Amino acid sequence: MRLSDAIREGCRYTTKAREMFFGDDVPNTACALGAAVLGYNHITYDNITTLDLARVWPELTLEPERAMVTTCPDCGELTVMLCLISDHLNDRHDWPREAIADFIETLSIDLTPAPVVREAVPA
Ligand SMILES: [Zn+2]
Repeated sequence: MRLSDAIREGCRYTTKAREMFFGDDVPNTACALGAAVLGYNHITYDNITTLDLARVWPELTLEPERAMVTTCPDCGELTVMLCLISDHLNDRHDWPREAIADFIETLSIDLTPAPVVREAVPA
């Protein structure tokens, strides 16, 4: 299941949460990425991390050599890894989670690891 589709699916069961994957005080709330987890697995987790999400959706990885970096489509002032842009749109710009899913779907996602470049060494 694509990340954007998982977010949309999770939005069917939840209302929006901020600054956390799942709302602690209000049941059935989730941020965009929390909604993706619910949409994919239909369960919540107490201690989920972005590392867990990246196992399902590699485009969310925090590994510098593989991370997908993009610029905030709202303010254009922030260029960071996709998982952080999602949080930024969700929390700072208050985008609807479905709009975040639409944005993610527009990205050209290339998960090919960057080539290793080695210096030529004289024999
Ligand atoms: Zn922004």
